[in-house]
Amino acid sequence: MANYSDIIGHEDIVKHFKNSIELGKVSHAYILNGEKGAGKRTLAAVVAKSLQCEAGEPDPCGKCHSCIQADSNNQPDIIWVKHEKPSLISVDEIREQIVNDVDLKPYSSRYKIYIVPDAQLMNPQAQNALLKTLEEPPEYAIILLLANSIGKFLPTVLSRCTILNFKPVEPLHVVEYLTNNLGVDQAKARFCAEFAQGNLGKAIRLAISPEYNELLEDSVRLLKRLSDMDMEDIIEAVKNLGKYKLDVTDYMDIMMVWFRDILMVKISNSPNKLLFKDEYSVLKKQASMMSYEGVEEVLRSLNKVKIRLEANVNFDIAMELLLLTIKDNM
Ligand SMILES: [Zn+2]
Repeated sequence: MANYSDIIGHEDIVKHFKNSIELGKVSHAYILNGEKGAGKRTLAAVVAKSLQCEAGEPDPCGKCHSCIQADSNNQPDIIWVKHEKPSLISVDEIREQIVNDVDLKPYSSRYKIYIVPDAQLMNPQAQNALLKTLEEPPEYAIILLLANSIGKFLPTVLSRCTILNFKPVEPLHVVEYLTNNLGVDQAKARFCAEFAQGNLGKAIRLAISPEYNELLEDSVRLLKRLSDMDMEDIIEAVKNLGKYKLDVTDYMDIMMVWFRDILMVKISNSPNKLLFKDEYSVLKKQASMMSYEGVEEVLRSLNKVKIRLEANVNFDIAMELLLLTIKDNM
């Protein structure tokens, strides 16, 4: 099962934890901050396993009772906090799973480790409930908050946590992982790695998930046709996009790469640096139809819509406006 050697990239975060464990200077609370797919859960699992390892080395031994339990997700002192609603972690969930539980001593290990995935979904009440534990944690308590943005945390929570930011992984390492571990061919691996921009999880999804590939194909099909579409076609297209609502930021990312490619064609007039190399002729045609300002306006509105959708704005309306903006600039 997972060890530090299985973590691709994030050397500085790994080093931070290894040093802290070696020096016995582990903090009570961390925020692991990085986008979806960056590898936060894998890293948290390895950190928890190594903290609890009975051998007491910075690297987990993989053989002791605790390591074996951790590998099968059965370590009673490593608690993964769950939440019922997809978009919210409630105060009750934080109370039940952390605040009211933390005073009970560890079952069999040195520490009691709470891992909270999607911690940015804690509402202010939930964060305030957690604050009490963060302010006066029992000696043995460690809380790992995994989050894709720190903007939603209360300043009081932030000030109690060590914040570790995930950085993009080198594309070369992503390509190596995809080809060596997943058997993806070189050309596809390179496309996925560049497209994912250092996000290994995203690169893996792109490489192996039929759904993501379908989303990619749908997006490209739409982008190629957009300049010839009328209002009716656009409404139809938005309806079709509806089935991807959950992956809407992926969708925005795909469109952003497309228009960045158009910008690249305008600047360099060559397919070499493009991600959508295969679509060079279409990109070239669209580049000739669009002004620099037009492309930049489209990129700006893509960014805006992405933020609005994350704030739960009506999907159909946001998308219709976006597609019209794009069309107007073509
Ligand atoms: Zn061990």
